[in-house]
This record gives sequence, C-alpha cells and structure tokens, in this order.
Amino acid sequence: MINDVYGTHGFAPDVIEIKDDTARILINREAQKFFTLRFATDDSARKPVPRLWRSAKYLSPAKQDKPLLGLKIALDPGHLGGHWAKMEERWFQVGNSKPVQEGDLTLRVARILATRLRDLGAKVSFVRSTDEPTTGKRPDDFRELARKILIKNGVPQPRADVLDPTDPTREQTIRWQSEIFFYRYSEIRRRAALVNFKLHPDLVLCLHFNAEGWGDPTNPMLTDINHLHLLVNGSYLADELEFDDERFEMIRRLLSRAYDQELPLADTIAGAMARETGLSPYAYPTTNSTTNVGTSGYVYARNLLATRLYRCPVVYCEPYVMNSKDVFVRIQAGDDEGTRNINGAEQKSILREYADSVADGLVEYYSKTRGGSRSPNAMSQTAPSAN
Ligand SMILES: [Zn+2]
Repeated sequence: MINDVYGTHGFAPDVIEIKDDTARILINREAQKFFTLRFATDDSARKPVPRLWRSAKYLSPAKQDKPLLGLKIALDPGHLGGHWAKMEERWFQVGNSKPVQEGDLTLRVARILATRLRDLGAKVSFVRSTDEPTTGKRPDDFRELARKILIKNGVPQPRADVLDPTDPTREQTIRWQSEIFFYRYSEIRRRAALVNFKLHPDLVLCLHFNAEGWGDPTNPMLTDINHLHLLVNGSYLADELEFDDERFEMIRRLLSRAYDQELPLADTIAGAMARETGLSPYAYPTTNSTTNVGTSGYVYARNLLATRLYRCPVVYCEPYVMNSKDVFVRIQAGDDEGTRNINGAEQKSILREYADSVADGLVEYYSKTRGGSRSPNAMSQTAPSAN
C-alpha cells in the first residue's frame, strides 16, 4: 500500500524503511525519533485494528429492499453556501441568470440523497446541514496568523486587502490568506472533529461538483468539456510526508485499512454514476498529485484534507463540470421529479441524477458484500449493531 497507494511519488529513505519483519517509521524529523512497527508472523498473531467503523462483511445480511439497513453514512456537502460562496470562489453568474454556487448545489444533492438512503435502511447524518460554516471561527480570527505566514513565505509587508478581485497577487494579501484559513483549514478540521468524535459513521460521502477554469466569475467561460471522477485518500507528495503530522495521519489511515473498503466502494459508485450520467472519466493534466487506482478508470488517490482526516472510509465524488454548457442549462432548469426536455434530450434533474446514481452504487456494493461475519475487532463490537 505504501508503494501503490500512499507513497506513489516517492519519499526520503528514512521516512519509512521497510524490512522483512518490521517497518521503521520516522516520528519526528527534528528529534530523529523513530517508531518500529512489527509485522504479525501469521494471521492468528494479528492484533485487531482499533476503529469505530464497520466494513460491509461485518454487517449482518439484510433484506433485499433494505440493503443499507443499519449502515451509518455521513453526508459531507462540499464547501459553504449562501453568501459565503463568493469568498470561496465557488460562485459564478452568467448575465442575469441565477448564480451557480457549488456549496448550495451539494447541500441540495445531500438532502435528496439522504431521503433515498434512509428509505434503503441507512442511518444518515449531515456533516453540514445549512449554508453556514461548521467552524465557529471567522476570517478575522486568522489575520495575525495570515500576516505571519505571508512574511515567512517571503512577502515582507503583506497588504491588508484585495483591491481588485482579478489581481493575480491577491493571494499575497492578509484578507485572502485569512479567508483560506477560515473556509478551508478551520472548516474542514471542524468537520473532521464532528466525524471522528461525534458521528462515528461507517462511511463518509463527500459531495462536490467539478468545474473547469471559468476566468472572470461575472463573465465566466462556458465549455463543452464535461467529466466525472471520484477520489480516495493516497498519493502523498514527498514534501507532504516530510510533515510529522501528515506522515502520522497517513500511517494511521494505512493501518486502519480504510482503503480496503473505500476503493471497491468508490469503484462501484463510479460505475453506477458513469452509467447513469454518461460522463467519461476525467484525466488529470499531470500525474504530479494523483494516482489512478482501482479498476473503473474513474477513481484516483489524492491527498485532500477531508479524505485524510476523516477516520473511516471516505468516497469523494467529483461529477459534472458546472460551467459546461450542458450542466449549466441543467442547473438553471432546477429540480423537478420526472424528466424534462433539456438540450434536446429527456433528462432527470441534475440533482436527482447525482443522488440516484450514488444511491444505486451503494445498493450494488452492499447487496453483494454484506456478510454477517463476526467482527474480530474489539472496539467495533461496541458500535451499534446493524439489526
Ligand atoms: Zn468542490
């Protein structure tokens, strides 16, 4: 897994040294502290992995019409909505049409999906259920930190504010940096705390819409390009593995074996989404930060904050290019039951197509893999039973 999933871009030789029966893992670069991980000599010597989520084979078999019975799914609608969308640069508007805001679309998909999953027996929770942030912090709380980081990164006298939204050096302002600390780092770490210490789901679904560069958000470029891909955690950069905390989180994730669950799940969901949306797989322009994994052709490993920090299987969905001509028209058409004629074809609402295809993928996966094996895992026996 180190070679094929997590460390695919290489890493310094002392970061992890794998020998026949042990692995030596760097704990602290500065103090040169190491941890020795001893491999089990055989299956009976394996120690159980302490974790709170249950994989499909330890869920009791379920009736055909409730294939997700007892499964705890947390839905994580990506980004924020409402008036935060502009700050996040997840907003564009064509003429006088309704602005497109990714954080609003993902929440609407999550609500439709939640209803379907509950009908199938799942226990559904929301990592974000309104358009407001989960974190209690706000950009102003990070101004001093933003100033210090900018100075450290070679901007001796950072400007306070962005004067012109199209200014290419806007990223060097205290405002822009403190906003990133707020809506990305603080917000996602707060969501991780919710997932890890309160919700304890068996699976998190991160819901996003993709986009191609749209340039000026008030006069965006629309494109013919449209595609789909899904992400699981992995593909760490050598530089990222130099950080003691990221290396620790990577090792914890690897040893939790979340990958054994999230990869086949992502592949199966990708298959259903590809079938129902007709979208072709996204090809990253470079392989610098991603690694193609699985068998569907749609799934990549990538080290995102959410996929790294949520301590359970995480499938991160990136269907639809919001500023493709087809998707834009479908978003403007809104959400209706049934189909209507859009761009010359009878189509479902894009939000329902998204939610239905994810739900169908989950049904397909859990219908064939629920086992009812007794869990060898001491901690998971304290988790609520599937019955
Ligand atoms: Zn997104």
